[in-house]
Amino acid sequence: MRYIDHHAHMVSRTTDDYAAMALSGCVAVTEPAFWAGWDRSTADGFEDYFKQLTEFEPKRAAQHHIQHYTWLGMNPKESDNRQISVEVLRRIPRHLDGPTVLGIGEIGLNRVTRNEIATYTEQVELATQFRQLVLIHTPHLEDKLKGTRITIDVLRRYPDLAPGRVIVDHAEEHTVEAILEHGYWAGLTLYPQTKVSAQRAVDMIEKYGPDRILVAGACDWGPSEPLAVPKFIAEMRRRRHSDALIQRVVLENPIRFLSQSPKFKLPAGLEDTVAARQ
Ligand SMILES: [Zn+2]
Repeated sequence: MRYIDHHAHMVSRTTDDYAAMALSGCVAVTEPAFWAGWDRSTADGFEDYFKQLTEFEPKRAAQHHIQHYTWLGMNPKESDNRQISVEVLRRIPRHLDGPTVLGIGEIGLNRVTRNEIATYTEQVELATQFRQLVLIHTPHLEDKLKGTRITIDVLRRYPDLAPGRVIVDHAEEHTVEAILEHGYWAGLTLYPQTKVSAQRAVDMIEKYGPDRILVAGACDWGPSEPLAVPKFIAEMRRRRHSDALIQRVVLENPIRFLSQSPKFKLPAGLEDTVAARQ
């Protein structure tokens, strides 16, 4: 079954991973800007990374007939550094016209500090001003509930940013309801060991339905699984969910969300999908 992975840090992945994803049905990925595992020392370091995301990765993906789109932003982990954050934010607008740039992300909170909230708020403002889609990271473990609440509180201060243009990612059982209730899209990022498993994601879809829910594999440099979405598909099938429902979650939902950007092009052969016809 064809699918789109909306949260895949492909810079951390080998070409073999692209090949395996293509073989398993992946037709497009979107890659949010992220922490490299170490703190960058200058704003120039971020600009080099943005070049990698906008110039190099689309070509690498294209060799496997996978479309590659990206999100630019100051990631939550480094956003506590206000000096670099302010400089990076000043430079972001000049990159937003790039043909594969869909919006601002992943932004949000990590340890929920005052500095992080300031950087996050400025990026929500930037997205509103430049009419960008938004992809938000929510903190893990004990900070998740509090962090998700503050994340939503800040978003609600910007009524010009339509909730339907925002993905609040890394949702879990105790946060998914609030995200959906406010009209945002909920991202379920699947991990092999920690965080949400394929089983838990299917449980949530059984409970809340498929509307405005997206699933992704993260594909980062830590323990993560480039084939997480196909494994989610397998779990859906094991529980005897219909192909129509599965396709809705893994293909039509991302198409519906991403098509809000005029830069998103429907992958070849998908003109007949339900989402494309709407
Ligand atoms: Zn991420």
